[in-house]
Amino acid sequence: MKIPEQGASRETVLAALEAYRVHDLATHGGRTWAYVYDTGRPDIEEVATAAYSAYLGLNGLDFTVFPSLLQLETEVVSMAASHLGGDEGVVGNFTSGGTESIILAVKAARDRFRATRPEVARPGVVAPVTAHAAFHKAAHYLDVDLVLVDVDPATFKADPAAMAAAVTSATMMLVGSAVSYAHGVIDPIPELGAIALERDLLLHVDGCIGGFLLPYFRRLGAPVTDFDFSVPGVTSISMDLHKYGYAPKGASVVLYRDRELRRHQFFVCADWPGYTMVNSTIQSSKTGGPLAAAWALLNYIGDAGYLELSREILEATRRLVAGLRTIPELRVMGEPECSLVVFTSDSVNVFRLIDEMRALGWYVQPQLGNRGSKENVHLSVDPASGAAVEGLLAAVRECVERVRGMGSALPEELAAAIAGLDPATLGPATAAGLFEAVGIRDGRLPERMAPVNEVMNLLPPAVTTELLTDFVNDVFVYRPPAG
Ligand SMILES: *Cc1c(COP(=O)(O)O)cnc(C)c1O
Repeated sequence: MKIPEQGASRETVLAALEAYRVHDLATHGGRTWAYVYDTGRPDIEEVATAAYSAYLGLNGLDFTVFPSLLQLETEVVSMAASHLGGDEGVVGNFTSGGTESIILAVKAARDRFRATRPEVARPGVVAPVTAHAAFHKAAHYLDVDLVLVDVDPATFKADPAAMAAAVTSATMMLVGSAVSYAHGVIDPIPELGAIALERDLLLHVDGCIGGFLLPYFRRLGAPVTDFDFSVPGVTSISMDLHKYGYAPKGASVVLYRDRELRRHQFFVCADWPGYTMVNSTIQSSKTGGPLAAAWALLNYIGDAGYLELSREILEATRRLVAGLRTIPELRVMGEPECSLVVFTSDSVNVFRLIDEMRALGWYVQPQLGNRGSKENVHLSVDPASGAAVEGLLAAVRECVERVRGMGSALPEELAAAIAGLDPATLGPATAAGLFEAVGIRDGRLPERMAPVNEVMNLLPPAVTTELLTDFVNDVFVYRPPAG
């Protein structure tokens, strides 16, 4: 494809952009139970959009020439710190998302460890298996070891004794989640903090999802165990504003208990002939839009407004869990402690259930079976979806009926072939053949995802990882838009 020779009109261009969205998931209306965090309030979105546009052209590369961005960032970070029990010493930065916040926290830990313990070649992070995949990514990018420890099989919470047992002289940091994305439960942060203090380790709390909501849930009377800077031993926390702060995507904060640790997060380069580069985060040139939008919403919604939105979520989550528990075929996994609810089934195929939900216009998220956690359906409650709980439950009931007795979504020969495979000798060609057999071709996915999910659920994660890497390599290739 070439750049069009002549420009088109503003109307033509914007209409084309609108038209490209026909196959997208709805971002409003309460039927999308993942990816979007919708308050259902157009006024909130208008404020965010206006603030975003007003700061879109600014460049966060250089805070000395755009002091507004420095001021907004320190205000957002200070509000975040006080929300999470931080004192005056807590510092942090605004980042593009939870993943960047986590990579930066691991990078700060690594560089501090390199400075203080240069004899350790490859420092390690000890984390529960439920730690977000962003920690795998951080370990991969930063060349540190990620040591994964099983969680309690009933509660899906980190097991402090097992984590302590996994600590070695190369360990630099422990990780806990508040809450975990996969199961929506809070790890025992006070116990992890005690281990961190005793063994002289850092402790990062992943509060990407729960950091913003949990303090409100506690004020609303929900049982919330301590997880923030009030817990001795917690040294850093990540918290997303583009989830339950309702900011447009590109908004998160990473916080540190003190400046000594945060110093290791930065990257400065004065050794080239260009401008002196002083980067607080991974991005260098970056728009001020997300920061301005996040700041605007904190000020527009305010503490009382967020408390009200949190009340809607808490009540909706309780109705959702109670409703799911009345469906005999389904089993809620763990005790949801925030806004995330996960259920599985021992009698119906959850991947088929998800496809049927999609056909009825509901998007719910599949999670594969992994390390003691059975394949399941993941639901994120937001104020907009909260108003749709009864509709969702009715759809789930109907879909359970539709898929009852249907069993596997894989053709019998294929299921048998996979069952007969020896993962140890499974070659790449065989594995790729499995993907093709379930309809993945030329970088395009089939309409029905159950067979694809089932294949991935059966294959060893390392094989699935290879296949998906090839798949994504096929996806990002120019093709004309689907009709
Ligand atoms: C969403 C999430 C992340 C990753 O955040 P992104 O904003 O998607 O980069 C990390 N941890 C938890 C617990 C999350 O929910």
